[in-house]
Amino acid sequence: MRPKILFPLFAPVTTLPGLGPRLGKLVERLAGPHVVDLLWHVPSGIIDRRFAPRIAEAPEGRIATITLVVDAHQPPRNPRSPYKVRCRDATGFLDLVFFHPRLDYLLKALPPGETRVVSGRVEHFGGVAQITHPDYIATPDEAAGLQTVEPIYPLTTGLTPRPLARAIREAVARAPELPEWADRAWIEKNAWPRWRAAVRAVHGPTAEADIAPDTAARNRLAYDELLANQLALALVRASHRRLPGRPIRGDGARRRRAVETLPFTLTGSQRQALAEIVSDMEAPSRMLRLLQGDVGSGKTVVAFLAMLNAVECGAQAALLAPTEILARQHHATIEALAGRIGIATALLTGRERGRPREAILDGLRSGALPIVVGTHAILQEEVAFRDLAFAVVDEQHRFGVQQRVALGAKGRAVDVLVMSATPIPRTLMMTAYGDLDLSRLTEKPAGRRPIDTRTVPLSRLDEVVAGLVRAIADGARVYWVCPLVEESEAADLAAATERYALLQTTFGDRVGLVHGRLKGTEKDAVMHRFAAGAIDILVATTVIEVGVDVPEATIMVIEHADRFGLAQLHQLRGRIGRSDRPSTCILLYGGPLGETARARLSTIRETDDGFRIAEEDLRLRGAGEVLGTRQSGLPVFRLVDLAAHAELLAVAQDDARLALERDPDLASDRGQALRILLYLFARDAVAQTLRAG
Ligand code: ADP
Ligand code: MG
Repeated sequence: MRPKILFPLFAPVTTLPGLGPRLGKLVERLAGPHVVDLLWHVPSGIIDRRFAPRIAEAPEGRIATITLVVDAHQPPRNPRSPYKVRCRDATGFLDLVFFHPRLDYLLKALPPGETRVVSGRVEHFGGVAQITHPDYIATPDEAAGLQTVEPIYPLTTGLTPRPLARAIREAVARAPELPEWADRAWIEKNAWPRWRAAVRAVHGPTAEADIAPDTAARNRLAYDELLANQLALALVRASHRRLPGRPIRGDGARRRRAVETLPFTLTGSQRQALAEIVSDMEAPSRMLRLLQGDVGSGKTVVAFLAMLNAVECGAQAALLAPTEILARQHHATIEALAGRIGIATALLTGRERGRPREAILDGLRSGALPIVVGTHAILQEEVAFRDLAFAVVDEQHRFGVQQRVALGAKGRAVDVLVMSATPIPRTLMMTAYGDLDLSRLTEKPAGRRPIDTRTVPLSRLDEVVAGLVRAIADGARVYWVCPLVEESEAADLAAATERYALLQTTFGDRVGLVHGRLKGTEKDAVMHRFAAGAIDILVATTVIEVGVDVPEATIMVIEHADRFGLAQLHQLRGRIGRSDRPSTCILLYGGPLGETARARLSTIRETDDGFRIAEEDLRLRGAGEVLGTRQSGLPVFRLVDLAAHAELLAVAQDDARLALERDPDLASDRGQALRILLYLFARDAVAQTLRAG
């Protein structure tokens, strides 16, 4: 249960003054649904209103707070000109300029002959100083609090600065003093403020330097977030380890036969990864291991062979995939491998219903089915195993800790292998997994040809299409990826549909389209036709829809490649180059490229080493480039900027580990404070395993 002390922070944002349902919704979209989310919405800049010059001393472009006397209202001569109010002080004149003003308001706010204090950005126009739409107009009495520094917050369409700032001020005021969860010596060594003081400092900048991500206050909050993250991971880890394990040590007979029937030989990396996994399984403790390797590096085969170890012991194994398409594909791969050695497998997704579903459930309950591949559907309550001993989670970064826990609960001492196709840099990996064991597939399977990657401006689309005509005549198959911009799914879909229509004019019914709005069956049908060669070009809106293995596909066109993150580009490209025929990746970009986009595209052109690309990705990823992060499924931090706070991560990890060693149940005073920290950063799911475990 959430600690009482945090209740005010977890009230809906609509409990804040000025946020009705309409603004509340915008704020929720911008920052999150709870008051606490506004604490994490940190300023991106400041407005300094302390500068109070006389008119003649007010420089162009600067924010100034000026005391002046209202001279005369000057309505515009023609309706397109602005309304002006001429003001003055002892040094000269200044015009206040308004477009489409409410006259009654202006006359009341600026009565001729009266003194007013205005604040805004000064411009010079035709030799006269002016302020267009001043931010504040106050009487000398009201002006007392005006000469301050205001934080500037990132906004969203429809939300103006003032109601947001007001809501955040109130949210900050509601932040209670919380018990200290961080290591005191560490806090003192850094001279960091307490949590509440840090929140106040971050939202009360007094100079531009206070906005930087490495102020004491920001570092403190980033550290808190990292500590919550690492503590949550360490708790999962600890609860996993604490559970009794069981040695899974098969006789190797089925594995030997399976390897003999493979149409290829395993790479050295595959053999080593398999040995590491099997050795974990054989150990009496619980396994939680990450198998990391590029798309196409051969993870599925490794996972399958490890499954056989469980099957050899008379136990069961499950593979959980993030989407239905991927589940189907994994199942196809595994079924082919298992079929050759006479082992039954089943596919279980939301689409299996009625009799077939019942048969699968029966098989899992009785143990007649040793291997199941599926989606979340496997996690449903009705799904029970006779003896699940090994679970593989093909993460593609969609499964959270919770699902892994749920899967573990389906069996007895389940060993878990997480497969990840993103060669995540070590720092990011720590934030996603803590210090779990890791196997890496670094070799490419034999026979893979390097992919020829080119960048082409969108203006040369015609040439690209002409090239495709020739390639397709030669038997090539083509993925055409349109970017997903989360702001507007409808617009993305429209763009993809338009591209689809355009390609149809050349390729007729040999083009297919898949996107997120299609039903599972519809998607499958299109994918199937592409895999079978009934269509030559597959237009897709999202990354995951192309998560398929079609070795005949040798061309990938990525439209607006400049909008994708490096890791995504790399993953997408991994869909081709899967046969012995040469493959080509065409990165189409629109307009002039920014520096980061240019660097990204040249990296992807130069190398196909996933680990190098991942390191480069982290280096290049600016705060604004959330696309890659959001879709990667890595934890989305609110206050942590890994470029600035990477060194805090290792400390947070040590701190979390040490705290748990001393107080595994978080029962001490500091333990209680750490529980509050977990809830503060919404790591509740883990807090629940804590109670249960
Ligand atoms: P991943 O799951 O890492 O994306 P897969 O296991 O699906 O990769 O393998 C991709 C393709 O490569 C599959 O068609 C698989 O049969 C094939 N493959 C796997 N290992 C090897 C190998 N050692 N040599 C040649 N081909 C392989
Ligand atoms: Mg695979």
